[in-house]
Amino acid sequence: MTLTVRPHRDEVGLKDGQLYVDGAWRPAADGATWTHLHPASGEPIGEFPIATMSDVDDAVLAARRAFDDGPWPRSRAGQRIQLLHRYAQLLREHTDELQRLQALDNSIPLSFGGVYAPSVGAAADVFDHHAGWVDKVGGQTLPPYQGGDHLAMTFREPIGVVAAILPWNAPFLLFAQKVAPALAAGCTIVLKPSEYCTFSVLHMVELLVEAGLPDGVLNVVTGPGDPTGAALITHPLVDKVSFTGSRAVGRRIVEASAGTLKRVSLELGGKSPTLVFPDAPDIGLAAMTTMGTVTMGLSGQACVAHTRALVHREVYDQFLAAAEMMAGAITYGDPFDAGVLASPLINTRQLDRVLGFIERAQEAGAKLVTGGTRPDGELAAGNFVRPTVFADVANDMEIAREEVFGPVLAVIPFASDDEAVRLANDTEYGLGAGVYTSDAKRAFRVARRLRAGTVGINGFQLEPHLPFGGFKQSGLGREGGRSAFEAYTELKTVMMPLTEELM
Ligand code: NAD
Repeated sequence: MTLTVRPHRDEVGLKDGQLYVDGAWRPAADGATWTHLHPASGEPIGEFPIATMSDVDDAVLAARRAFDDGPWPRSRAGQRIQLLHRYAQLLREHTDELQRLQALDNSIPLSFGGVYAPSVGAAADVFDHHAGWVDKVGGQTLPPYQGGDHLAMTFREPIGVVAAILPWNAPFLLFAQKVAPALAAGCTIVLKPSEYCTFSVLHMVELLVEAGLPDGVLNVVTGPGDPTGAALITHPLVDKVSFTGSRAVGRRIVEASAGTLKRVSLELGGKSPTLVFPDAPDIGLAAMTTMGTVTMGLSGQACVAHTRALVHREVYDQFLAAAEMMAGAITYGDPFDAGVLASPLINTRQLDRVLGFIERAQEAGAKLVTGGTRPDGELAAGNFVRPTVFADVANDMEIAREEVFGPVLAVIPFASDDEAVRLANDTEYGLGAGVYTSDAKRAFRVARRLRAGTVGINGFQLEPHLPFGGFKQSGLGREGGRSAFEAYTELKTVMMPLTEELM
């Protein structure tokens, strides 16, 4: 028997998608559509428009008008706060159908809904969190530096029209991390969901409309990177691009921003290390937590996955045994089955890419401990790869350097703290890192030496008020917390002489 998820389409009432421009739902100008194929079964699930350059132009112009002349950027703080809280509450009330739509989009299993960071609840908390900044972040009044008496003030003003571009892997949190601070700051938005995760995002937008957002403030263009995303990042009337996705597309955005000097925020990929010292509180738990980040829920298709385990030689075998056991315990298949813990890969291109990495790692001399193959039977039509562990990896091998974005852990031995830190930092990325030790001094000493945006000591969790982002090629800027809100503002200085002479 072959796996099918199509009956859930009707249960959850999934409809084909539309663009949302200036307060109205509509098809693409030329009627072109994208058919979404389910990652676990290959079945067609639904269609949505491929927004053309002229659709993107309409959406940007609507956002531009709403910014230049509309009520939202000029609204009172109380009005914005109320809307953001109302929306957070609506999200919580619609958690169940949002999770089901996500399972039809990207096949993240319903069982993963209880994990905080990618949950609807976390997205709701992000909206509540940013509502809190609206009436608290302002400017300063500054004293004269020289000359006559004068008054100088700074203001934080909304940055303008924001192009928000999402990846497919954590739609609730990533939607919230862009839309919440942008709306809180008074910006208007053109949002592009990933073509591999559109239906759940469209429902989030429907709920935002229900919450009472004025027309034109948020517009949605659906479709792939080319033509839809490319038209958005090059549009001259966009003031800021806020992007989460791959490093390759991040680079294109930086290039495309040069023409009009757009502001750019980038949340990109990672090759994050876990450093396991012999005095870790529980080696087995460290192995299972690390392996969990590359298997549970997203099957390693997470920017924060700790895909390089740097393990002290004294506890190396113990770590490997626990990682292998964890790999064997992961279940995958129908995302609606409560016993399923992990997803397939998002599409056949990614499946081929991951299998290529696995093949080349073996050719390069890494030792395959477990996994590396695809399941057959009823899962053969899906993009599944078994959880995979490589031992005896050298840090200069491709499997230790490239973001695989699949259920693959590379385990690398080390012999001293200095060697561990050197290996950890020997990467082009710098998103996250983990440190497992019972020695608090070692923990902080090592954490401070690591070139990464988020370091977890004996575990980590993403939370709405904590800055999150990358060093090096993992990104530009931070999401979460006050700095995320400020990234959607421009700082303006206004001064006025109080005497005849200013200077
Ligand atoms: P992707 O870069 O392929 O696509 C991301 C988005 O960019 C999609 O909406 C896509 O349609 C769009 N896009 C593609 N080409 C474009 C172009 N030329 N112009 C404009 N837009 C374009 O990434 P993905 O496969 O959806 O997501 C996986 C990547 O995202 C991984 O690298 C992962 O590490 C990263 N990611 C980072 C974070 C973070 O917070 N740092 C979070 C989640 C995912």
